[in-house]
Amino acid sequence: MRPSQPESQTNITDFLKTLSITPDKTVRMHQVHSNTVAWVDSKDAGNVKENTDGLLTQEKNLFLCVVTADCIPLLFFDKKKEYSGVAHAGWKGIYSEIIKMLTRQMKSLGSNPSDIIVGIGPCIRSCCYAISEERAEQFKKKFAPETGFLKQQDEKIFLDLPYLAKRQLDAAGIPEHNIEDTLLCTADDTKKCYSYRKEGSNFGEFMGIIGRKGTTQI
Ligand SMILES: [Zn+2]
Repeated sequence: MRPSQPESQTNITDFLKTLSITPDKTVRMHQVHSNTVAWVDSKDAGNVKENTDGLLTQEKNLFLCVVTADCIPLLFFDKKKEYSGVAHAGWKGIYSEIIKMLTRQMKSLGSNPSDIIVGIGPCIRSCCYAISEERAEQFKKKFAPETGFLKQQDEKIFLDLPYLAKRQLDAAGIPEHNIEDTLLCTADDTKKCYSYRKEGSNFGEFMGIIGRKGTTQI
């Protein structure tokens, strides 16, 4: 969604209303660009998890939220175990491999990677995400010998975060056909999306949400 004033509780409540969900059934995160993933249940309903960038649950009618502007919002669902998950992954989250942490936790709880479906939401893409030489070196060192995540154009270096996200999902054993990517670039499509890089300090944010209502996944 792209609400007009995303940080206001009213807009969040209105958005949730369109899904017939009340805020007391959600779990939100105080996101800090970490690789910390928290398992939550009904005791966490209505709460904000501090210093967390990933959530997992098996609870019905508990809805996990991730809020982003340029970072990648990822939604996870295990069709067999019925685990729902969210992750917030900017460059720091990708660098510190939050996807690995989250999928590792799912697998330790019995998930078979082939049962996990993943949604990659709008985020800043390699078309718009210019980075410094220093950052590029940092990523090269970490993910060597892989280099497909960097693109050079007009003497600028661009980082492809969703590419790395997909590599990490692949490394976790999740089949490519289980991954759905919106392919939206937040910096290109500011009518639909918010972009910190494009909009500066007045940037807005949008929310990704996943959970199971009764027996229905949304
Ligand atoms: Zn772009």
